[in-house]
Amino acid sequence: MKKCIICSVPAAFSIKDSSDFYCQECAEENFDSVEYLQKIEGPYDGAPKIPLSPSDAGQADLI
Ligand SMILES: [Zn+2]
Repeated sequence: MKKCIICSVPAAFSIKDSSDFYCQECAEENFDSVEYLQKIEGPYDGAPKIPLSPSDAGQADLI
């Protein structure tokens, strides 16, 4: 887990062209805009979403 270089909490952003990491709070303090920052994707962000029974909408088995 990357840590904020200022307060050592888990970092949410990395700096482009740099190996510095910042948390949300410190990033906002040190940069007027987060445009210079790259958001670090959390380990769970890429989890696939489970679709909600798509067949239910179009297929009704009427007895
Ligand atoms: Zn911080």
